[in-house]
Amino acid sequence: MQTKPAKGMDRRSFIKTAALGAAAVGLGAGLPGVARAEPFKLPPLPWAENALEPYISARTISFHYGKHHAGYVRKLNAAIKGTPWASKSLEEIIKGSYNKDDYLFNNAAQVWNHTFYWNSLKPGGGGRPSGDLAAAMATVFGSVDACKEHLLNASAKRFGSGWGWLCIKDGKLLVASSANALNPIVDGMKPLLTIDVWEHAYYLDYQNRRGDYLKGVMDHLINWDFAARNLAS
Ligand code: MN
Repeated sequence: MQTKPAKGMDRRSFIKTAALGAAAVGLGAGLPGVARAEPFKLPPLPWAENALEPYISARTISFHYGKHHAGYVRKLNAAIKGTPWASKSLEEIIKGSYNKDDYLFNNAAQVWNHTFYWNSLKPGGGGRPSGDLAAAMATVFGSVDACKEHLLNASAKRFGSGWGWLCIKDGKLLVASSANALNPIVDGMKPLLTIDVWEHAYYLDYQNRRGDYLKGVMDHLINWDFAARNLAS
């Protein structure tokens, strides 16, 4: 196992906590639920708003999805209207606006990130992955539990707003966290799952206790099947 300390932590930086061999997976796979449409649509949630209770309340989901995610979609559509971006895919906008148009990048990435986050959770989730994903986690991190711990730590220690990620880069499984809206695809990674650690993801239910939110997510909601499907795709 290899652990790298935080380095170069500007607001766009990633912290990669481990990387070693795993199945090689290419980049650029489409995001489930985000088919190209003009304007972009808010995709439906994969479960009912109250389905993640008691770990994430319907009230949190109603604001997080109905206000925050919907707001990013609305602002993205307004920003691309009448511009050359209007004919681009969401991934093209994210990669093309990165370091060029922060407002567009942030809204586009947040649209992508939130759709991916909803799919990274499910009622009756948590537990342990199996198959190739479990094997890759054990190979890279020593054990499945150690990998889960790395993901929890990366998510807990992300300062301020951001995201925890399980990704593939150059055929290697890694855990990362990103600041604000930053999406790993701009750094050549293929995300397998994500955890939102912006305060709006947990404050109504947990106030400042991000660790309790993360424990609820990891033990009861995380959708390893989604990550396994992304690994295989
Ligand atoms: Mn969010």
